[in-house]
Amino acid sequence: MPRPIQATIDIQALRHNVSQIRAAAPDALVWGVVKANAYGHGIERVFEGLRAVDGIALLDLAEAERVRQLGWRGPILLLEGVFETRDLELCSRLNLWHVVHTEAQIDMLAVHKTHQPHRVFLKMNTGMNRLGFAPQAFRAAWTRLNALPQVDEISLMSHFSDADGDKGIAAAMALFHQHTHDLSGERSLCNSAATLRHAKDLAVRADWVRPGIALYGSSPDFPLHSAHDWGLKPVMSLNAAIIGVQHLQVGDAVGYGSCFVADRPMRIGVVACGYADGYPRIAPTGTPVCVEGRRSRTVGRVSMDMMTVDLTDLPNAGLGSEVTLWGLPQKSNDSGQALAGVAIDEVAQSAGTVGYELMCALAARVPVVVKD
Ligand SMILES: *Cc1c(COP(=O)(O)O)cnc(C)c1O
Repeated sequence: MPRPIQATIDIQALRHNVSQIRAAAPDALVWGVVKANAYGHGIERVFEGLRAVDGIALLDLAEAERVRQLGWRGPILLLEGVFETRDLELCSRLNLWHVVHTEAQIDMLAVHKTHQPHRVFLKMNTGMNRLGFAPQAFRAAWTRLNALPQVDEISLMSHFSDADGDKGIAAAMALFHQHTHDLSGERSLCNSAATLRHAKDLAVRADWVRPGIALYGSSPDFPLHSAHDWGLKPVMSLNAAIIGVQHLQVGDAVGYGSCFVADRPMRIGVVACGYADGYPRIAPTGTPVCVEGRRSRTVGRVSMDMMTVDLTDLPNAGLGSEVTLWGLPQKSNDSGQALAGVAIDEVAQSAGTVGYELMCALAARVPVVVKD
């Protein structure tokens, strides 16, 4: 028997999340963002669940090739554009649309030989200060691109720094509007947070939305809203089994560094999941888990291959019991009802990070089952 740990990818949940995003941004075209190997889920694994999106957005050229190999003939957008002139040959060959965020990328296009002009997304920096032309330089970049025979349609885009928080998107929207209002072309502004929170406004929704995290069923603005609040279902679940049980007396410790010391008699379950599986080592005692659908908590340090959970109040749990690290349990109860799980966002919050990081970090050694 292989080590009892398994990740499950739920394709129905993914389809459901796509429809939630469509409902939040009616009539907008949807880029399904699959960068970072579909946020750790695996591009090939999630592909069937993404059939209903209008385009696939990513940033690694090798990932774009994989998406074409899967038979995707629709638009593919390279979110960081090309990295060197040679990359444009692949764009021509595979018909990839690409972001243009810097003068150097216009220089590359200007010397690229192609019969097929490229569709590009010209990016404005509206305050994130990562990629994009300064608002004042945007028009000059557009004019230069527009004069190139290598360039077909120019779309306009930006990426919000604060769609998920209090600062919001008003300042970014004002800048974008001021410097693009008389330019033609489709527009794309919204990540998941902006799509769910701000896309009622038509100018924000624009022509294309670019959801990533919401597709995978994690909330972009947890804890303000949970995935449940947004009507999103978890696509990735991580479950493992209890492979050992320990009984602690008052004063007994658990795990490396003896970080956790029992202040009452306790029963501890040893779970076949550790940081080498992608569970965050930094998650402290008290991080939520579910044992056969009942909530409990981690105790002591997460080690490479194992972690420990509190079974004191779960007398029916023991060797072989299923432990849900995040997402939903795979077993149902005796009457066939679904059991409760743990939102990845709760685990992430306890570990001081975001759901994105946990799903992206799922380790290659964890067996993955795709459920449709
Ligand atoms: C990653 C990314 C997105 C998706 O962001 P989420 O927060 O996961 O929805 C959208 N646009 C760009 C440019 C990105 O890099």
